[in-house]
Amino acid sequence: MLKIEHIGIAVKDLEASNELFAKLLGKPAYKTERVESEKVETSFFQIGESKIELLHASNEESAIAKYVEKRGEGIHHMAFAVEDIEKEIERLKGEGFLPASQKPFPGADNKLVFFFHPKTTNGILIELCQEIQPI
Ligand code: ZN
Repeated sequence: MLKIEHIGIAVKDLEASNELFAKLLGKPAYKTERVESEKVETSFFQIGESKIELLHASNEESAIAKYVEKRGEGIHHMAFAVEDIEKEIERLKGEGFLPASQKPFPGADNKLVFFFHPKTTNGILIELCQEIQPI
């Protein structure tokens, strides 16, 4: 693992939360992006080496919609940057962590992502992410 890449925060109202986090962090989001496969709208704030990712459900089927309904707004996941996602997935599986994804898939912010279930990680959904290199 290289560093904490970002912390994902589930929000109910993306526009209001963009304003709130811009105030909190003293700068605006550097991008917003819709991820159709995950049914979310995201925005990203850069803080030094790390980022804050705001996640908003783009429809009711979204895992984020269910999360917010059940647990309210708040920290949804922690993402770690990795150099070799396949290798890291195998390592963590070998350590007994429960995968929450089938295989790495394209997430927001030009990343290949993979999740591990909070059941085996002290209640925190863990994301691994690897920068997608231009071919
Ligand atoms: Zn994330």
